[in-house]
Amino acid sequence: MSRFDFDLMVIGAGSGGVRASRMSAQYGARVAVVEKSALGGTCVNVGCVPKKLMVYGARMSEEFSDAAGFGWTVPPAKFDWPTLIANKNAEIARLNAIYGTLLEKAGVRLLEGRGTLTDPHTVEVNGKAYTTGRILIATGNKAFVPEFPGSEHVMTSNDMFFLPALPKRVLIGGGGYIAVEFAGIFNGFGAEVTQLYRGPLFLRGFDDDARQHLAKEMVKKGIDLRFNTNIARVDKTGDALSITLSDGSKVETGLVLAAMGRVPNTDGLGLEEAGVALKENGAVPIDAYYQSNVPSIYALGDVTDRLQLTPVALAEAMVFAGHLYGKGAEPLDYDNIPYTVFGLPSLASVGLTEAEASRLYPNAVVYVEDFRPMKGTLSGNDERTLMKLIVDQDTDRVVGCHMVGPDAGEIVQGLAIALKCGATKAQFDATVGIHPTAAEEFVTMRTSRPAISGAGKDMPLGVHPAHGQASAAGD
Ligand code: FAD
Ligand code: NDP
Repeated sequence: MSRFDFDLMVIGAGSGGVRASRMSAQYGARVAVVEKSALGGTCVNVGCVPKKLMVYGARMSEEFSDAAGFGWTVPPAKFDWPTLIANKNAEIARLNAIYGTLLEKAGVRLLEGRGTLTDPHTVEVNGKAYTTGRILIATGNKAFVPEFPGSEHVMTSNDMFFLPALPKRVLIGGGGYIAVEFAGIFNGFGAEVTQLYRGPLFLRGFDDDARQHLAKEMVKKGIDLRFNTNIARVDKTGDALSITLSDGSKVETGLVLAAMGRVPNTDGLGLEEAGVALKENGAVPIDAYYQSNVPSIYALGDVTDRLQLTPVALAEAMVFAGHLYGKGAEPLDYDNIPYTVFGLPSLASVGLTEAEASRLYPNAVVYVEDFRPMKGTLSGNDERTLMKLIVDQDTDRVVGCHMVGPDAGEIVQGLAIALKCGATKAQFDATVGIHPTAAEEFVTMRTSRPAISGAGKDMPLGVHPAHGQASAAGD
C-alpha cells in the first residue's frame, strides 16, 4: 500500500494535463487531476477550437461573393454575431462534457478547484491537502499585456470569444499567431481592422516570403496593417477608444485587442517554495522527460514556454506517461513539427525557413510558385497562393516547406510526413500529382534559386517552431 493518496497528481486539465492523466491511469497509476476552470483548457475553451469555428464563419463572406462568378445569385448576406457565439458555446459545452467522460472512464479522479503545492509531494485543493508520489504541472499560460497608459482598457484573446456584439472597428496590437488570426476573423465578419506590429514585418521567425505574401494578401482584403509602430497610450471616452501610436499618429476604434505573447501560469502555485527553480518569466525548466530540478515534480505544455501548440502538449504527455508508467518512451523529436497560422489566408509551414536553411546548408536552394488558384478565374477573387520548397542540394533532402493560401494547414500536414521521413526532391518529383489541385504544385516545381539569409538572419536558430527548440540551438 502506497504511503501517498495518489501516484500522480496533475495540475491543469488542458490539452497536456488531460492526456497525461488519462494515459497514466490507463497504464495503472492512481491519478487525480486538478482543474480550476473548464475541462479542456485553453485549446477547447478559448483557443484552437472556438478560434477555428470563427475562422470558418469569417471565411464564408468570401464564399458568398465568389459564388456570383459561378452563376449564383446570393441574397444580401446578413451576419448575426450572437448566433455564432451561442452555437460556439453549445459546441464547447459538448466538448467539456466529453472530456469529463474521458477522465471518468480512465478512472482519473477530478478535483475541481485551484491546486497549489505545499511541498514536493503535497497538493492543496479547496483547503484539503492530498499527498502524491509525483506532481505534473500542466497549468498552461495566459495573455501578457504590457504596461502603457490606458492598458486597463484593452482586451485579450479570451474576451474575443464572448463579446456581446461584433465591434465595427478593431485595433489589434501584436504580430504573432493570435494577432494575425483575429485580424482575419474580424475582417471576414466585416469589421474595420487595424493591426500594429512593432517591427518591420510581422510573424518574426516565419519564412520571409511567406510573411511578405500574407501581409500583401491581408492588405488586399482591406486590413490596415501598420508596421514599425506600437500602442503608446489608450484613452477612453464613453464607448470610444482613442489610441496614440508610438509614431505619434492616432487611431479611433471600438475595441483594442492586445495579442502580444503569453506568460506561463506559475504565479502562486507554490513551485518555488517546493524547491523548483523557475526561469525569469516563470516557466518551468525540464529535461527530455519533463522532470524539473525537484525529482517528484514534472511539467509539460505551455507552462514550459517552448512550442506552444496543442499537438505538442499532447505528444509530450504521451512521452511522460509512457516513460513513467508504461513500457518506456523515446524523448519527443521536436524537429519538423508543422504549424499553421489560421489567417485569411492561412500560412502553414514545416521544417526550416529559407533564412535558417541558408545558414545551415551552404548549397540550399529554393523553389517558389506564386499563382492565382483556379477558383479565382471565375470568381474574380484576386487572392494569390504561395508555395515554397527549400532543398539541401548536397543531400537532395527537402528541408523546408511553406504555403500561404486556402487549406494550407491541410496540405502541409501531409507534407510534414514526407519531411519527417527525410524525403528528397527527387522523391517529390517522382510523386504523381492530383489534378487539378493547388497541392500538385508541390510535386511539379522545376526552377530553383540559391537560398538567401534574408531578414530572418537576426533570429537565433531554435527559437521558433520552424526549427524545434532542441535541435540547432544546441540546448
Ligand atoms: P492549457 O490547455 O492552457 O491548460 C492549462 C489548464 O490548467 C487550464 O485549464 C487552466 O484552467 C488550468 N490551471 C491553471 N492553473 C491552475 C491551478 N493552479 N489549479 C488548477 N488548474 C489550473 N494551438 C494549436 O496547436 N493550434 C491552434 O489553432 C491554436 N490556437 C490558439 C488560439 C488561441 C487564442 C490561444 C490562446 C492558443 C492557441 N493554441 C493553439 C495554443 C494551445 O491552446 C496551447 O498550446 C495548449 O492549450 C497548451 O496546452 P496545456 O495543457 O499546456 O495548457
Ligand atoms: P506570439 O509569440 O506568436 O506573438 C507575440 C507578438 O507580440 C509578437 O509579434 C511580438 O513581437 C509581439 N510583442 C511582444 N511583446 C510586445 C510588446 N511589449 N509590445 C508590442 N508587441 C509585442 O504570441 P501570441 O500571443 O500571438 O500567441 C501565443 C502562442 O500561442 C503562439 O506563439 C503559438 O505558439 C500559440 N498559438 C498557436 C496558434 C496556432 O497554432 N494556429 C494560434 C494562436 C496561438 P516580436 O516578434 O517583435 O517579439
